[in-house]
Amino acid sequence: MKKMQSLVSVLLAVMMLCSLSFSLAEETSATAQGFGGDVTVTVQVEDGKIVSVTAEGPSETQGVGSNAIDQLPQAIVDAQSVAVDAVGGATVTSTALLEAAKEALLAAGLDEESITKPVEKEAVSTDLIELTADVVVVGAGGAGMSAALEAQNHGASVIVIEKMGAIGGNTLVAGSALNAAQPAKQATQTMPADRIATVESFLVLEPQCELMKVWQNEVRDELEAYKNTGATYLFDSAAFHKLQTYVGGDYVGDPELIDMLCDKAIEGVYWLEELGATWKNEIVSVYGSTWTRGHNPTMDLGTAGASFVYPQRNAYEANGGVIYTGYRANKLIVENGEVVGVSGETTDGAPFLMHANKGVILATGGFSANVELREEYNEQWPTLEGLKTTNPASSTGDGILMAREIDANLVGMGWIQLIPYTHNAATASIDGGIYVDKEGKRFIPEDERRDVIAAATIDHNDGWFYWLVDDKTITDELNGITIYGQVIKEYANGVDVFYGETLADIATQAGLDPEVLQATVDEYNASVLSGVDPVGRKNMPQTIDRGPYLMYIDEIMVHHTMGGVQIDDNCHVYDVNGKVIPGLYACGEVTGGIHGSNRLGGNAIADAVVFGRIAGTSAATR
Ligand SMILES: Cc1cc2nc3c(=O)[nH]c(=O)nc-3n(C[C@H](O)[C@H](O)[C@H](O)COP(=O)(O)OP(=O)(O)OC[C@H]3O[C@@H](n4cnc5c(N)ncnc54)[C@H](O)[C@@H]3O)c2cc1C
Repeated sequence: MKKMQSLVSVLLAVMMLCSLSFSLAEETSATAQGFGGDVTVTVQVEDGKIVSVTAEGPSETQGVGSNAIDQLPQAIVDAQSVAVDAVGGATVTSTALLEAAKEALLAAGLDEESITKPVEKEAVSTDLIELTADVVVVGAGGAGMSAALEAQNHGASVIVIEKMGAIGGNTLVAGSALNAAQPAKQATQTMPADRIATVESFLVLEPQCELMKVWQNEVRDELEAYKNTGATYLFDSAAFHKLQTYVGGDYVGDPELIDMLCDKAIEGVYWLEELGATWKNEIVSVYGSTWTRGHNPTMDLGTAGASFVYPQRNAYEANGGVIYTGYRANKLIVENGEVVGVSGETTDGAPFLMHANKGVILATGGFSANVELREEYNEQWPTLEGLKTTNPASSTGDGILMAREIDANLVGMGWIQLIPYTHNAATASIDGGIYVDKEGKRFIPEDERRDVIAAATIDHNDGWFYWLVDDKTITDELNGITIYGQVIKEYANGVDVFYGETLADIATQAGLDPEVLQATVDEYNASVLSGVDPVGRKNMPQTIDRGPYLMYIDEIMVHHTMGGVQIDDNCHVYDVNGKVIPGLYACGEVTGGIHGSNRLGGNAIADAVVFGRIAGTSAATR
């Protein structure tokens, strides 16, 4: 009897195994181009049902595209359809993922009608949402999160509203360096003696305002002391940073705001550090910075830019602060000449009204992604038509429009920054690279101002160039990973990113004459050694001679809007009659007047953190 029972058990097990193998799920994969690289989706289909979806997108931006990678696969399984909503703030990655999922599901034998059927949504309330706090912060990028935390630190209750599905804005995708003179750290880096001449060139300029005279005197004394000690380390000071910011913006920037920015930048670095940001050892020359003072975060928080948003977010939330994502503000509420709140609509269509006892802080960023607004104000370039932007879709100038509506004064709106850029960028530092044109030759000093580089690139090379670096950048500076988290060895595509052991190899891949590229690099290396560059570059810390090499195409894009609402150095907003608007504060790229006609690379993050902190403190202590 026992024998019979065990035979039946074995038969049953075999039958179960057979039935299992008959219903084994069909697994297929497909790939689509995401924001930073390929997004690959693998689906399993069984009996006409989607049983599992997984996605990989190692090059998508952490905290932005990665949200789509995390959230959409389960949403597709739940809905049994790819007609699910894109994840807010991650439209490009979402679209790629949904396209790839659709292709994989079709390949697995499902029919198009069933997998694209509309998804029934749960009914959501569209009743008015009404909340009150001392301070309402509009926008959760670097400036907004700095403001929110400082307002909280000064005893205020705070509400943060963010229109996208995820926080971070421009700041999260920043390159990412924060300019601050930090003598202690700079003392560990050397500087060629001939760069002293660059510092001295600022001392002989005709002062254009009283503060410029003060800064020149300070730098004169500091440089004298530096020379007297026979120092060879990297010279810098807050006063020199101020001079370069003012001169670099063609004397258009507000000297009082520049004074504040450069004095407080280093405190911003220490503050972020206390909150959890970690920095790479070397101070770098970020592209267009005109000096070596960029503090570059490590990739510990996912992307470089994350270090300028997440540390403040973490502290703010740990203190009980709430961020309302999917809340788009569209109107400032004014009562008796005072801003007392802000209204808008959630992505679910519910109206909201946020009352502010003390003040509303606009931290909504710039307007590089608002084609209409940039056309309305652009005075700097013959045309911006057809140009892409480096910015995420969130940079639509909403805060500027809301402020304009209540007669806030706008300054510098015509100054719009263009830069050569690619989402395949490996680094924002210019130290280790050169720019070469379509013939494989250099054409502009790589350490020039951004507006000069942009104009030369448009005139000379149809608005694009190759950025070439060697293994010193790839391994020593970047540890093999781009600033957007791509593995350098793996992300070359032979189309606009080229990677190879030798210069000849990448030249051939890119269709350049290998001999011309080699001659260009040889000439540059000779300039590094002699300190004299026929193209005119002054900052040449390293040769390009250690393979492997990386070269990628950068094209001109709209990058930064220098104009915006006018503020004083406590971040109060001025109206068109030069009077402060009570209850209204602004910080970050929504403001104008700091960077003049040309922002120095690395100064925008400093701006967001410094003025974000000031705005939060001012509003909370009103
Ligand atoms: C690719 C790239 C690289 C960069 N690299 C550097 C660098 O290395 N160094 C440097 O100094 N600068 C860099 N910059 C510039 C710098 O990142 C920005 O100037 C800075 O981050 C702006 O910060 P912010 O907080 O003012 O705006 P953002 O970070 O853009 O934040 C604004 C936030 O407000 C939200 N918002 C907008 N409108 C509304 C509304 N109506 N309601 C609610 N919320 C709203 C947005 O969704 C966004 O989250 C870079 C920019 C880009 C695009």
